[in-house]
Amino acid sequence: MAAKREPTFRESVDLMFNRAVALTDLSPGLEEKIRVCNATYTVRFGVRLRGQIHTFTGYRSVHSEHMEPVKGGIRYSMGVNQDEVEALAALMTYKCAIVEVPFGGSKGGLHIDPREWEEHELEMITRRFAYELIKRDLINPAQNVPAPDMGTGEREMAWIADQYKRMATTDINYRACVTGKPVNGGGIQGRTEATGRGVQYALREFFRHPEDVAAARLSGTLDGKRVVVQGLGNVGYHAAKFLSEEDGCKVTAIIERDGALMCDTGLDVEAVRGWIARHGGVDGYPDGRYVRDGSKVLEEECDILIPAAMEGVINLENAERIKAPLIIEAANGPVTAGADDILRQKGAVIIPDMYANAGGVTVSYFEWVKNLSHIRFGRIGRRQEEARHELIVKELERLNRGLGDAWEMSPDFKQKYLRGAGELELVRSGLDDTMRAGYQAMREVWRTRQDVDGLRVAAYLVAIDRVALSYQSKGL
Ligand code: GLU
Repeated sequence: MAAKREPTFRESVDLMFNRAVALTDLSPGLEEKIRVCNATYTVRFGVRLRGQIHTFTGYRSVHSEHMEPVKGGIRYSMGVNQDEVEALAALMTYKCAIVEVPFGGSKGGLHIDPREWEEHELEMITRRFAYELIKRDLINPAQNVPAPDMGTGEREMAWIADQYKRMATTDINYRACVTGKPVNGGGIQGRTEATGRGVQYALREFFRHPEDVAAARLSGTLDGKRVVVQGLGNVGYHAAKFLSEEDGCKVTAIIERDGALMCDTGLDVEAVRGWIARHGGVDGYPDGRYVRDGSKVLEEECDILIPAAMEGVINLENAERIKAPLIIEAANGPVTAGADDILRQKGAVIIPDMYANAGGVTVSYFEWVKNLSHIRFGRIGRRQEEARHELIVKELERLNRGLGDAWEMSPDFKQKYLRGAGELELVRSGLDDTMRAGYQAMREVWRTRQDVDGLRVAAYLVAIDRVALSYQSKGL
């Protein structure tokens, strides 16, 4: 039997979109308008490094401008190509719609292995790439706002912001041209861990619905659940850390580039991360069993599988052997369209990428708003909030004295209650609220429509509906 061809990443996203859009009554014209990628800009630029000119290829793809600015990260990887950035830009459109972040979808990428270059070289390359995008308004606070993605972080975002400032010297809102900046360079607290935190909040919300938990053939709470995580980068690390330290999950396997670590009683995520930083991989870590073929570990027994590395890792080849009853897509596109069919038939529940990893862009939105308002969240109201709480506590204490000190307020309560919320608390509260609301919107569709078999189709339906409404309100 001829092996079924695996579609490309973009085809895979389109296939899943088509499956969902077939359940709507949108006109074929609007359907097509939402599906297609509006534009992809390709740039090849030279940078003189190590005595010679090196040419790099970069992309910025704009999938949908139903809302502006458009938003999405910039990825540095050897896997970057037009198909990939277009797939990722489309996912950004749907992602922003699900979490009600008022942006269109975009994505950028540079075909580069960042580990091959020194920091000062990366700075020159990044500034040059940014220059090419800025002069075409493909980086601009009102039109297109990048963020970190695979292979980039706050360092690159700081270079981009500075480059923009040099070129747009009179733009008072220059800081809003990019998100994911360092906190002392116009960033916001809680952005670095936001995507991992969002994965945690998504799982917490999922486990608040026993019916949904039962659909995944699981029961109870997150406490004691066995988690396998693929990729201990920014997203996987934070998700695994928070789930194990705060929710009682056991991280029974960590899959990395050079192999996997396994431990039935649970791995210490922080210690493994430290080991990778010192040794460049997981091999040799003393408190776990090392398995060279990491991809096999995706197929291990567990309760929750968190692919947090890259696209296409669960595909036609291995989907049949995946045993996890619950998969949460912390990466973008880790499950191909074909694998999605197989897993659904097997009864697995998949919490889809466009919702599961939307914590990053949600906090990016908060950062952008902070940059445009030129003030830190909580700066104006915090002490006022504390003063009002103080008033209540004082009054209660006065009444209590009248009752002969009948009861006592615990010092812990008093301390917690009196503290007004700072930026980090507000960011977390906004992210938590967003992840709850996003899940509820998807599950409502999943649970009430007979023709919807899974959260991914439900997610697409919610997103398509919102994007369509936005186009329709423009008279399209
Ligand atoms: N690159 C991240 C993503 O795929 C973040 C995008 C953003 O914050 O704009 O969602």
